Amino acid sequence: MAKRVLVETDKRLLWKLAYNMGVGAALSVHRHKRRLKRGQVFPPFLYISIINSCNLRCQGCWVDVAHKQQTISPDAFHRLIREAKAMGNRFFGIVGGEPFMHPHLLDMLAEHPDCYFQVFTNGHFLTPERARRMWQLGNVTPLLSVEGTEIVSDERRGRGGVLSKTLTGVKNALDAGVFTGVCTSVCRTNIDDLLKPEWIDRLIELGVLYTWFHVYRPMGPNPNPDLCLTQDQGVRVRKFVVEMRATKPIVIVDAYHDGEGKALCPAATGISHHINPWGGIEPCPIVQFSTESIHPDGRTLKDKFLRSAFLADFRKLAADTTRGCIVLERPDLLKQLVEAHGAADATARKTALAELGAMTPRPSQYNPAAEVPERNPLYRVAKRLFFNDFGVYAGRPPG
Ligand code: SF4
Repeated sequence: MAKRVLVETDKRLLWKLAYNMGVGAALSVHRHKRRLKRGQVFPPFLYISIINSCNLRCQGCWVDVAHKQQTISPDAFHRLIREAKAMGNRFFGIVGGEPFMHPHLLDMLAEHPDCYFQVFTNGHFLTPERARRMWQLGNVTPLLSVEGTEIVSDERRGRGGVLSKTLTGVKNALDAGVFTGVCTSVCRTNIDDLLKPEWIDRLIELGVLYTWFHVYRPMGPNPNPDLCLTQDQGVRVRKFVVEMRATKPIVIVDAYHDGEGKALCPAATGISHHINPWGGIEPCPIVQFSTESIHPDGRTLKDKFLRSAFLADFRKLAADTTRGCIVLERPDLLKQLVEAHGAADATARKTALAELGAMTPRPSQYNPAAEVPERNPLYRVAKRLFFNDFGVYAGRPPG
């Protein structure tokens, strides 16, 4: 991997990545750990949905992509980033909808050269010109979603030709010399295509530097439980990720396990929360309820995070309930919490509470009988330092 990074990457971009993302994000996690000791939570990694609109209609998507367009305005975005920077944050995930449909996306990112942005995109608007602009900025990496083969991809994403357009976006980004990642949401119909060393080899051949394995979650107005992985399939994904991390020259991200293979929920640990296009502050993108907004009301962003009873009670309930995902395992408890706080349904469709009530509990990443520790010592050390449960599950029953 070190050889690939040194040989294949642009050194100016490498410096930005190392300084903004490496040093900056590491220090922000360090500050998070210090705040936790004082009982304060301000997530070092904020994920910001800057727009609800999207050109695709993927199966099981929980974003109101077909509703009237709503965006985070440049002013609101800059205020949010400035206030988060004051807390030490340097890394931000930009999500949607499709972020490239926001008319000011790259101009907004250009205003914060001391930060690093990861843009989750389907790649269809990633033209050579936009890729070139990203290269000029140097502080942004696109993470393009690919859902498997042409047939599976097009079926899951609601129309033909989706995969080839995404791969064109990947090529444009790589041709411009931008650090590029590919993410996949693993489900029953693509697991056999994706959990293959050949898939990882193909990404490496293309020049992709990192890949992220999500697991499909049946949320939103049209969930598709038939796509959910079984618990055994979940273990297969984890084993594959650990094996590939130890053997292939590509960075692999998964957000649900520490270095020892123990499950965790990033929202329960407070390492990340989510901002929706209306400015609502949510525990995570699939918990679409909020009591706070980033928009001005006389309080600072710090105050809103530190004093939010809803967010604090969500984290406590999630950690008390399971090391896995409370939404999947105990939607009933989450519904009670939302009702007790009178948290607003943060969707445009206004059916999120009923959707929660209709969910069937199912297993999540918590599976103590089949924990798979990291084999690659670098991941073990990195996770011990920067990505673990930060002690939030200590003294709690195992779930
Ligand atoms: S609540 Fe579930 S989906 Fe949300 S961050 Fe936690 S584990 Fe992930």
